[in-house]
Amino acid sequence: MLTDEQVESMKAQLIKQVEASFPEDKKDFAVSQIEAMDAEQLEDFLIKNNLIRKDGITSVSGQQCVFCSIVFGDIKSYKIAENSKAIAVLEINPLSKGHAMIIPKEHTTNEKAMPKEVAKFSKKISSLIKSRLKPKEIKIASSNVMGHQIFNIVPVYEGRENLAERKPASPEELVELQEILAKKAPVKKPREKKITVKEIVKKFEENLWLPKRIP
Ligand SMILES: [Zn+2]
Repeated sequence: MLTDEQVESMKAQLIKQVEASFPEDKKDFAVSQIEAMDAEQLEDFLIKNNLIRKDGITSVSGQQCVFCSIVFGDIKSYKIAENSKAIAVLEINPLSKGHAMIIPKEHTTNEKAMPKEVAKFSKKISSLIKSRLKPKEIKIASSNVMGHQIFNIVPVYEGRENLAERKPASPEELVELQEILAKKAPVKKPREKKITVKEIVKKFEENLWLPKRIP
């Protein structure tokens, strides 16, 4: 079922479409029909017109949402991490080396409706990039394409603070970065605690002092 925000956004997109493409004498009627639809009717209408599919939303222009396509694996991506609410992929036209996108799995149209886990996940990926690629700083910026709200995580490097230009990254570069970033952190072996003689004696004394356990 569509959320209230999705209903609002889809209706607004449909009305825009009607305004732009319907004959003058049919516009008002079409707009009033759209406005009168409840969430269920709107969903039916969108499914019948192939504007929506069960696992993701297509925009009213008929194009599949690019981020939903990435989430559902219809578009090849360079994934670096994933949790239940979002995935992190490398931007193929990055502003800087390691520019990543956090894509909520649900087609969420604004930042307020975004699950908290997504923001948390963004911070986690941001510190991952910081520790592996050693940029001077990381910029996090949200953006919205075809109604799908995402976070951009953009590393800023010393001497290359100007982020005005996007450059396509080569598949080789992306695979290399994916390997660096998707690699699991080495598991730290817990250090064996050294016990001093004093402690052993203390333990021994404590045990002696304990009353005998009755079975
Ligand atoms: Zn989407």
